Amino acid sequence: MKKIFRNQKGFTLIEMLIVVSIIAILITIAVASYNAAIEKTKEVVCISNIRTIQRAVTYYEILNTDPPPSLKDLQPDYLKSNFDFTCPTTHKKYIYNLENREVRCTTAGHKS
Ligand SMILES: [Zn+2]
Repeated sequence: MKKIFRNQKGFTLIEMLIVVSIIAILITIAVASYNAAIEKTKEVVCISNIRTIQRAVTYYEILNTDPPPSLKDLQPDYLKSNFDFTCPTTHKKYIYNLENREVRCTTAGHKS
């Protein structure tokens, strides 16, 4: 009986199952890493946006003596007119506090 299997070409069912399960595990790890990298990238973009807005607020205040009443007043002179004031992760608008000129994201981990 063993002699018959050794003369056959190809893989056994067990060998195929092992290979398929290893490939499935590798794909699972790759997808998880990819998703984590995408989320980290969005967080970095959010922090960069907040810093850009804060610099524009400071620049506006230097030139106009008062801070901008709203973030929309920064466009188009201090920020590009197509600048998006939303977090790339949550798609919610940034919160602007006029009193302390603070710009922040609603997501707790996104701080500049
Ligand atoms: Zn954010």
